[in-house]
Amino acid sequence: MSVPNTALEIHLASRPQGWPTELNFEVAEVAVPEPGDGEILVRNLVMSVDPYMRGRMNDTKSYVPPFQIGEPLDGGAVGEVVASNSPEFAVGDNVLHGKGWREYAIVGADHAVKVDSSVAPLSAYLGVLGMPGLTAYAGLLRVGEFKEGDVVFVSGAAGAVGAIVGQVAKLRGASKVIGSAGSAEKVRHLVDDLGFDAAFNYKDEGPVIKHLAELAPDGIDLYFDNVGGEHLEAAITLLRLRGRVVLCGAISQYNSTSATAGPNNLALAIGKRLTLRGMLANDHGDLREQFVKEVGNWIADDKLKYDETLVEGGVAKAPSAFLGMLRGENTGKMLVKLA
Ligand code: NAP
Repeated sequence: MSVPNTALEIHLASRPQGWPTELNFEVAEVAVPEPGDGEILVRNLVMSVDPYMRGRMNDTKSYVPPFQIGEPLDGGAVGEVVASNSPEFAVGDNVLHGKGWREYAIVGADHAVKVDSSVAPLSAYLGVLGMPGLTAYAGLLRVGEFKEGDVVFVSGAAGAVGAIVGQVAKLRGASKVIGSAGSAEKVRHLVDDLGFDAAFNYKDEGPVIKHLAELAPDGIDLYFDNVGGEHLEAAITLLRLRGRVVLCGAISQYNSTSATAGPNNLALAIGKRLTLRGMLANDHGDLREQFVKEVGNWIADDKLKYDETLVEGGVAKAPSAFLGMLRGENTGKMLVKLA
């Protein structure tokens, strides 16, 4: 395939205040550069939109630098090498890298990893076998110190991370796995298709604690928090002695412009000797090999299922896919098909 002279990429046009809109993004047509020494040119095939990208749209210091106005956004993508100036990669190789949000990407050879489409579909390297899958695996087993027999509660349960958390917990011997998600269809899917013991729609009438207490009358041992706020507060109340919380994400607060909700009951952590521990997937790369092997085998044996919501229409659709993910339009990993 010949490489075009120009291609599209998505720039940050302005910083969102509260909920982002399409106006915060701009589709730009740019020249496709030649790879320099030690670089490859990748034609991106699928890219990821992730909740953490919302934080990078703010001009605040964080564990990743903010996106710059007028510059392309970036993030996980898989694609095909179309030109190589590195002995490590040949034209035709499929690679995973961090230069999404554009049709063609120049990537340093040390920032790309070869991926094999005969082992798993390329998209899986952005989801179940990629960063979200590792987050679920390391968060549950290492950070959350999961133990056989635990009663586990996970929020954002129908999403990329949450659905894997719940299934790994079941496969590793949880006595009960409860999930929360934002629609009746997602709740049905968790229980009927993904093997959760119980689930509730947090948008249904009544506080989160009422729904959770009904499904976990004897309490929970481990809460995997993707949502924060009211969910975290409910979990703290229902955690048993020496319960554990994995602080993975707080998506209910990412678009907040005012003071955020709770938890107002943290003092309970003292008497119950709770552990609340934050995590970042990047710290757990040493588990990757074990994770890919174990989760890969479960997928091959049809014991673990994963969903992808693939938005078609090319890179110009990336902003609306990102906004849709924030609104909960995805089941499993939200992805954009570029080619
Ligand atoms: P995801 O769950 O696939 O997609 C985001 C989901 O969040 C939406 O589908 C939506 O589902 C839910 N949501 C949106 N607003 C909500 C609200 N106000 N209350 C409750 N749920 C809401 O995303 P993901 O990639 O798997 O990430 C899940 C969480 O893990 C995020 O908080 C993310 O920041 C975090 N994360 C952390 C790390 C780390 O290293 N610490 C790594 C990856 C992800 P509903 O329909 O259910 O509302």
